[in-house]
Amino acid sequence: MKLTELFQQKKLFLSFEVFPPKTSTAFENVKAATEEIAKLKPSFMSVTYGAGGGTSQYTLDIAKNIKETYGVPTLAHLTCVSSTRETVQERIRMMREAGIENVMALRGDLTPELENSDRSGWVYRHAVDLIRELKESGADFCIGGACYPEIHPESRDQREDIQHLKEKVDAGCEFLTTQMFFDNNLLYNFLYKIREAGITVPIIPGIMPITNAKQVEKAIKLSGSFMPQRFKSLVDKFGESPAAMKQAGIAYATDQIIDLYANGITNVHVYSMNNPDVAQKIQSNLSDILG
Ligand code: FAD
Repeated sequence: MKLTELFQQKKLFLSFEVFPPKTSTAFENVKAATEEIAKLKPSFMSVTYGAGGGTSQYTLDIAKNIKETYGVPTLAHLTCVSSTRETVQERIRMMREAGIENVMALRGDLTPELENSDRSGWVYRHAVDLIRELKESGADFCIGGACYPEIHPESRDQREDIQHLKEKVDAGCEFLTTQMFFDNNLLYNFLYKIREAGITVPIIPGIMPITNAKQVEKAIKLSGSFMPQRFKSLVDKFGESPAAMKQAGIAYATDQIIDLYANGITNVHVYSMNNPDVAQKIQSNLSDILG
C-alpha cells in the first residue's frame, strides 16, 4: 500500500520507526522486537538504513517480514551520500525485488570523515539527487523525504532550508517526515512557513519518547532540537530514577501527540526505535483517541 493513501484519514494513527541490526548475530533479536511492534498494528513502520550501506539487506529483510507476516505497510529508508550510481541502482533493484512500495529518500549524515574527503566526484550531493534517480528508475515508489522544523544544521537559515525542501517536493517527494522536536509550537510555525512556500504534501511529525537521561544528550546532539524548560525540569527531577524517567518521558511524548491531533495532525511518527514496550505504552495511553 502506498503511504499517501493512509494520510487521507481523519482519525489519529501512529507509525513507528525501527532500525535494522548491524550484524547477523543481532538479526533474530531485532526481528523479534520489530514483530512485537508490528503486532500493535500501526499505520505503517519505517525501517532505517545505515548510511555506510552495511545494513541495506537487513533494512529490506525487516521491512519485507513486517509487511508479509503482519500486513503492516512499510517504509524502507535509503541514503545516497558518497554512493556510486551503480550502488544506488543496485539498491533500487533490490527494493523492487523485495516488493518495497514506499521509500524514504535521504542524503545521510556527513560524518567528519566524509566531510574531509574529496567530494568532487560525488554523484549524489543531496537527497533531491536520489529522489530524481528513484523517479527516473521507472519503479512506482511512493517517495518520502525528511524535513526539519528547527532547520537542518547545515542550512544558513530557514528560508534557504525551505527552498531546498520545495525542490525535493517538486522532484517527486510525496510526503515529509520531520526530525524530532520537543516543542509543538516549533512545528506549527514551520507548517505555516512551508505552506506559505507552496509545499502542500502531507507532513508527518516525528516524536521521540525520551526514556532515559542519557538519551537526552544523544538526541540533542543528533537533532539540535530545542529542549523546553518543561522538558528539562522533567529530566532534572526523574533523570536518576530509570523507571520514573521512562514513565515521565512516555507521558511527555503522549501529551505532544494529543496536542498535535487537537491541532489537526492525523498521523504521528513515533521514534520508539526497537522498543516494543515504549510503542505499546504510548499506544495504550491513547487507546480512546486512536482511530
Ligand atoms: P538533504 O535534503 O539533502 O538536506 C541536507 C542539507 O542540504 C540541508 O541543509 C538542505 O537545506 C541542504 N540542501 C538540500 N538540497 C540542496 C541543494 N540542492 N543545494 C544546496 N543545499 C541543499 N540517516 C541515515 O543514515 N539513515 C536513515 O535511515 C535516516 N532516516 C532519517 C529519517 C528522518 C525522518 C530524518 C529527519 C533524518 C533521517 N536520517 C537518516 C538523517 C539524515 O540522513 C540527515 O539528517 C542528513 O544530514 C540530511 O538528510 P536529508 O535527506 O534531509 O538531506
